[in-house]
Amino acid sequence: MSRLTEILEFNRSFVQNHEFEAFRTTKFPEKKMVILTCMDTRLVELLPKAMDLKNGDAKIIKSAGAIVAHPFGSIMRSILVAIYSLGAEEVYVIGHHDCGMTSLNSEEVLNQAAARGISSETIRTLENSGINLQRFLTGFHSVSDAVADSVRVIRNHPLLPSDIGVHGLVMNPETGELSIVTRGKEQEGEDSSAIPVHHHPHE
Ligand SMILES: [Zn+2]
Repeated sequence: MSRLTEILEFNRSFVQNHEFEAFRTTKFPEKKMVILTCMDTRLVELLPKAMDLKNGDAKIIKSAGAIVAHPFGSIMRSILVAIYSLGAEEVYVIGHHDCGMTSLNSEEVLNQAAARGISSETIRTLENSGINLQRFLTGFHSVSDAVADSVRVIRNHPLLPSDIGVHGLVMNPETGELSIVTRGKEQEGEDSSAIPVHHHPHE
């Protein structure tokens, strides 16, 4: 049985048995947060569990390396939509250790593309039309630097309201442990009365 057929069969029984009921929520993030993180498979369930997030708590945007590559690309647009249309008040950029983007090498990717039938003429045409493939297909050296760069792009975006907190973090993909790269303005959590309020200089 193909993977797709397997999925469609599972899906039919999932719906018939009303298994969706446990996941019912709205499109508005209950914890008023939008997360930009990596597509890494280890984070699929680990990241929400390690942050105590359930279905409906957060908007989650994923891209390789959690990178905002372009201030007017689809990642930044998703962040702005989460803020303006869906009520998000905080942005969390969460990279992780051992990220595939740390070692991404444009030459290797292009060699693999050639081996899979992409002609050198296509590569030349792209380069002649001003596309910097080397830049497009190169990752980063340090995940915390990459997170800090993405946070900077978001914080400095001309369409970002000034009251939005933008935080940068790095997750350990084995344990789920988070470490802070940079803190933005902080929103009150549900049980904030029990916790003294800290003021952070990097707002
Ligand atoms: Zn990654």
